[in-house]
Order: sequence, then structure tokens, then C-alpha cells
Amino acid sequence: MIKENLIHIREKINDVLDKRNDELQKKSFKLVAVTKNHAVEAMREAIDEGVAAVGENRVQEALEKEAALGRAAEWHLIGHLQTNKVKQAVKLFDLIHSVDSENLAVKIDLEAGRLKKKQDVLIQVNLAKEESKFGVYREDLDELVQFVDALPNLRLCGLMAIMPQGGAEVLRPLFKQMYVLFTELKRKDLQNGNIQWLSMGMTHDFETAVEEGANLVRIGTGIFGRRQY
Ligand SMILES: *Cc1c(COP(=O)(O)O)cnc(C)c1O
Repeated sequence: MIKENLIHIREKINDVLDKRNDELQKKSFKLVAVTKNHAVEAMREAIDEGVAAVGENRVQEALEKEAALGRAAEWHLIGHLQTNKVKQAVKLFDLIHSVDSENLAVKIDLEAGRLKKKQDVLIQVNLAKEESKFGVYREDLDELVQFVDALPNLRLCGLMAIMPQGGAEVLRPLFKQMYVLFTELKRKDLQNGNIQWLSMGMTHDFETAVEEGANLVRIGTGIFGRRQY
């Protein structure tokens, strides 16, 4: 099933990419397979089908899986990062999508410095100001960008958003706003940054996200089926 699901999703993505015809988006595009609550065997199958990046939202679960899988794919942290898990997270993850406070950024920077690593990070934006979600509010974004960019062991690589529930008519304007923020961020003169990723779009909304400029989508259910909790 995983193989068929991946074929189906890639077809949909490629259709949108072809229609949109943005060379940079096409060239850079990355599908992150969200593997939280899915078994290592399923992850292996996806990697065998060419999945180059896996996304997890809990550090402990990712550590256990990495012990079994190794570095066969890039590891992305897509969920909220508690400061007491930063040390393990910096060791494990190639890209941390969920930086949303100065405090967390400082802790990641410190740990990356200890490991002599440049840690790639995205800033998570909470565009719809949902209280149930993490992420920096729009009006605080510029300040956090400046702050993160000044930390020597972090490399700011773009923005991430988790959208509210809703149909395309609700989500499209939000995706559009994210794309504007991403474009503005690219134009900024940064010291450490290398802005390249706009991470948005999940199983129920990835086509709209890609239509609006996402070049990194995070898909779980659409690849692996329902998660068992
Ligand atoms: C679980 C999760 C996803 C994947 O969601 P699906 O609906 O299963 O595709 C994407 N992003 C984040 C941050 C998640 O926590």
C-alpha cells in the first residue's frame, strides 16, 4: 500500500508543480514522510521507495527508530521541542522545523556549539493564532528572525506552518500569506541564514499548499494510512 500511496501522492504533487511551473520550487521540492506512530518496517518500505526524509514529532520515538534505521534518510523534527530534549534533538535531527521562541533558539544554539554542528532550523509561524498550536505570531516573526540569525550555530533555512482545519477556501489565503512571509524573508540580508524551505501542507491540504508555493510538504496519513494511537 505504501508504494501505491507514494505513487499517487507524487503524481498529484508533480501535476501541481507542472502547472505552477516555478523552476526553483520544482528543483528544490522535498516530500517529508511523517512517520510518527508508524513502525520501523513501514519507514523502511518508504525509504526503499525513494523517500529521502522522515518526520517525527517526538524525540524519544525518533531516537528509538534511528537506532534501528540509521541515517538512511534525513531526520526532520516537525513537532514542538521541549527544552529538556534539545540535547538529543540536536544530535539526531538534520532539520528542526519548530523553533518558535528565543529561549528555545538559545538552547539549540548552545547544544549545536558543543557538538560543533551548524543546526538547520525553520521558524514555526502560528498564522491563525490558534491557542492549541505552537508557533510565533506574525507580529513577532521579524524579531525572532533577527534573533535566530544572530546565533552562530544556527542556520535559519525558512518557515514552517501548521494550518487550522478547514477547506481550501479557508486555507488558501493563509498559505498565500505564508508564501509572502517566505519571499520577504528570502530578500532579507542575513548573516547565518540560507532561506530555502517553506514547510506547509499535510495529507488533507498539501495540494493547496503546493499551489501556493510550498516546497516542503509533510505527509503521514496519505502515505502510511491511519496512525494507531
Ligand atoms: C502529524 C503531522 C503531520 C502529518 O499529518 P497527516 O495528516 O498524517 O499527513 C504533518 N505535520 C506535523 C507538524 C504533524 O504533527
